[in-house]
Amino acid sequence: MNKNIYELLGLVVALSFILALKGLSAPKTARRGNLIGAAGATLATVVVFFAPLGEGKSHHNTILILAAIAIGVLVGVPAARKIQMTQMPQLVALFNGVGGGAAALVATAEYLNLGTGASTAEVVATVFTVIVGCTSFSGSVITFLKLQELMTTRPVVFPGGRFVIAATLAGVLGTGGWTISSGANTPLLVMGGLALLFGVLFVLPVGGADVPIVISLLNAFTGLTVAASGYVLQSTLLIVAGTLVGASGTILTRKMAEAMGRSLFGTLFGAFTAKPQVATGEQEARSVKSGSPDDVAILLNYAQRVVIVPGFGLAVAQAQHTVRELADMLAAKGIDVAYGIHPVAGRMPGHMNVLLAEANVPYEQLVEMDEVNPTFPQTDVVLVVGANDVVNPAAKTTPGCPIYGMPILDVSEAGNVIFLKRSMRPGFAGIENELLYDAKTTLLFGDAKDSLTKVVNALKAL
Ligand code: NDP
Repeated sequence: MNKNIYELLGLVVALSFILALKGLSAPKTARRGNLIGAAGATLATVVVFFAPLGEGKSHHNTILILAAIAIGVLVGVPAARKIQMTQMPQLVALFNGVGGGAAALVATAEYLNLGTGASTAEVVATVFTVIVGCTSFSGSVITFLKLQELMTTRPVVFPGGRFVIAATLAGVLGTGGWTISSGANTPLLVMGGLALLFGVLFVLPVGGADVPIVISLLNAFTGLTVAASGYVLQSTLLIVAGTLVGASGTILTRKMAEAMGRSLFGTLFGAFTAKPQVATGEQEARSVKSGSPDDVAILLNYAQRVVIVPGFGLAVAQAQHTVRELADMLAAKGIDVAYGIHPVAGRMPGHMNVLLAEANVPYEQLVEMDEVNPTFPQTDVVLVVGANDVVNPAAKTTPGCPIYGMPILDVSEAGNVIFLKRSMRPGFAGIENELLYDAKTTLLFGDAKDSLTKVVNALKAL
């Protein structure tokens, strides 16, 4: 392919990525943004086969590359189609990690290929790519295991942990320096191994509630890795795409940390400074007040203002349509109804907004945390539908607990709190919620959709 045409197509791809990001910044244009981004990525994948090469160079391993793409499509497409919306963050974590790992492998292969012909700048870029790519890969695998609840979601800390982390980081940097000064292969491979270990150690102490921030950070890391591997491979496309991911990922990470009232440093290293907590996943033999759907219907029927707090359990139960039906019934009775939306309710940023939009809940009924919090003292009933961590007062009262410092929805300020959940099990952060034992709390046990349906029927009968 003519060099000018190739570069022009590269510009089209870069533009499409920028337009995609712009589109993704608002719910209305997000679908279009996604399609533009996918089209750009497809074009980038195709044109690279026709990249003009230098004198005496030719494309090789085409069959192997096509076979790898075919395997990727065969695994990736069904996985993305089958996955439940509640499992989307795990999928993103996994895809992101694989991207970082791939960039590290490609840069390593190119480095081994260049041999002693690699320039210092190329060696530095390779070292950076391998360190960040390997960290991102292994760190993302741990976030996947935490989100899929295949391992504990609580911070994993062990005596001397921070020294082990510091020593591993020193080892990574030391072998990185050794690689740059010697240009040899062995230190690069040792460095890759240590960076993998560092990724694991880096994410293990992060508590469940902070995992979304870490996913976003690792995503930004992967972007930077891709940009650096673009330098090694002399690919403008990779540099542009990687920089965009790195920059937008960094902004998202900052925004998420701000929304959760966290500093990034505190998120990543908080577990090492906090006092160890006793696991509280076990049920305590304390009494709670449980009610029937009829009790809940009566409470709601005589309320003047009701705030519905949706959480992860709403998504699991797919109860968004039923909750809307209930809210509509209450509104028709003249009751003031709002939905209190916490920025990290559910398992991905904007999860509740997407879910409730699916049920055509009027946008003006969705009230963000900062706006809804001052209204709780004037609220008669709060209906907590499958939420737990986002209303857990431990975030304010228990220093050292995994969610300490995270702003919460102050539902305890309301007259009555009704929790719709199936059991006394804790939420994602794995910690007890004192509010469940509060005198003003009523628990309606059962799947959220079943419970809501029963409450709707009870309300109709009133
Ligand atoms: P939680 O995970 O704290 O609580 C969910 C609650 O839903 C549990 O108490 C569970 O109790 C209940 N539940 C589950 N299934 C059902 C069902 N079918 N019917 C009724 N109840 C059900 O969710 P929150 O939304 O309150 O908090 C989100 C948590 O996830 C935070 O810790 C946040 O940091 C974290 N997180 C957020 C991400 C984001 O970007 N939004 C990403 C990753 C993690 P039971 O089992 O007894 O039914």
